[in-house]
Amino acid sequence: EKVTVKDLAEKIGKNVSEVMGKLIALGVFATINQEIDFDTAELISTDFGIAIEKEEVKEEIEIGLEQEEDRPEDLKARPPVITVMGHVDHGKTSLLDAIRNTNVTSREAGGITQHIGASEVEVHGNKIVFLDTPGHEAFTSMRARGASITDIAILVVAADDGVMPQTKEAINHAKAANVPIIVAMNKIDKPGINSDRVKQELSDHGILIEEWGGETILVPVSAKTGEGIETLLEMILLAAEMLELKANPKRYATGTVIEAKLDKGRGPVATILIQNGTLKVGDSVVAGSSYGRIRAMINDKGKQIKKAGPSTPVEILGLSDAPEAGDLFHAVKEDKIARQIVEKRKAKDREENLNATAKVTLEDLFKHIQEGSVKELNIIVKADVQGSVEAVKQSLVKLSNEEVKVKVIHGGVGTITESDIKLASASNAIIIGFNVRPSTAVENLAERENIDLRTYRIIYEAIADVEAAMKGMLDPVY
Ligand code: GDP
Repeated sequence: EKVTVKDLAEKIGKNVSEVMGKLIALGVFATINQEIDFDTAELISTDFGIAIEKEEVKEEIEIGLEQEEDRPEDLKARPPVITVMGHVDHGKTSLLDAIRNTNVTSREAGGITQHIGASEVEVHGNKIVFLDTPGHEAFTSMRARGASITDIAILVVAADDGVMPQTKEAINHAKAANVPIIVAMNKIDKPGINSDRVKQELSDHGILIEEWGGETILVPVSAKTGEGIETLLEMILLAAEMLELKANPKRYATGTVIEAKLDKGRGPVATILIQNGTLKVGDSVVAGSSYGRIRAMINDKGKQIKKAGPSTPVEILGLSDAPEAGDLFHAVKEDKIARQIVEKRKAKDREENLNATAKVTLEDLFKHIQEGSVKELNIIVKADVQGSVEAVKQSLVKLSNEEVKVKVIHGGVGTITESDIKLASASNAIIIGFNVRPSTAVENLAERENIDLRTYRIIYEAIADVEAAMKGMLDPVY
């Protein structure tokens, strides 16, 4: 997925010179017609405050996913989605638990919530959604897959420990994703803590808190005693309000898979976060390379629900397979469309797999050499006597030239076996046999694995073939 500088500028409605300026700021010196990768394009667009999507998704939208832009009058406020990040043992899990507990005890005492990967909390009638997997690995792996679901990051810093390596990483990840940070300075119940030290360390790492003239909110909390949790939640709502988060409940639902598994009793189960639109039981949906019709939806309190709007995490039943975390999710008009999209995606995956496992053959060796994709020709030699193995090895190795090095990675006496094919497959080698014949089973395996397997009776014919292949002059076999 690449785009030229010119096309990107056009797509995001900016001057080429503005785009190039941003590129240079990133240390990328590209010409107007040069292609840049998606991640770079995304970084730049985000810098302009514009979100871009991969073409692939757009193509699919054209087959049936609703593509009209949301009308401004349809946009309604939606709850913020929060990720908790920070150094190990600074209290991320404890903080999430504390947040959920304050909420449960005040509303539905004793109501043990079911773990579905995300949970909703209500503060003064406003909802906040927390992703249950703390840590920036989850955050980053989602982002690497093109999913951006977090509106605000809570950076947990233990007051008695300060900024640590993973705190720095979390800061960098949140900044790279352009996600605002709220600092939760945790463990303030501990005796003898020095909060000024923590604030100083944060400022050393580019997080200047409000009290010190910056923009970042810092809330002192204790996940243990519950102190400050209410304030933290209120601050989240305040920050969310400033982001003016909106979505259109009237369209087909789109979202991201947060978790998925194959449940023995219930089949494929996925938790998705709905990011736009409303999902209803009975809707046809696509998620990654699975599709289906929503048979049931369960919210984070374990209740069955019939529909779910923007920023709602729900567990869904009815998919054909378990998708992967980070997969995008779309509801579509009808089953047929869902199936078509998935078939298209699967075909594309197969094609990519095939290309990835395409093995070198003597026929296409020259092409690979010219493309520069093959610098070494690996060969396995099997023969009826040791003398032949040695003779062939030596003659083959001598064929090495500046472009390709010929390497005999394995040589031995005896027929060609399954393990020779496996080795060839793993090391992208061709197999040459003298006066030995593989069994039909082995021949079939070679064919399945796309291994070029050749047998000869005369040594110099084998050498001549390899030599010709290296020069692109191998006679085709009919
Ligand atoms: P995580 O690795 O960031 O998820 O950290 P945990 O939530 O597992 O907490 C690590 C340790 O710190 C545990 O032993 C917690 O009991 C303790 N802890 C967490 N929050 C507090 C707090 O506010 N005060 C105190 N005294 N201990 C805490």
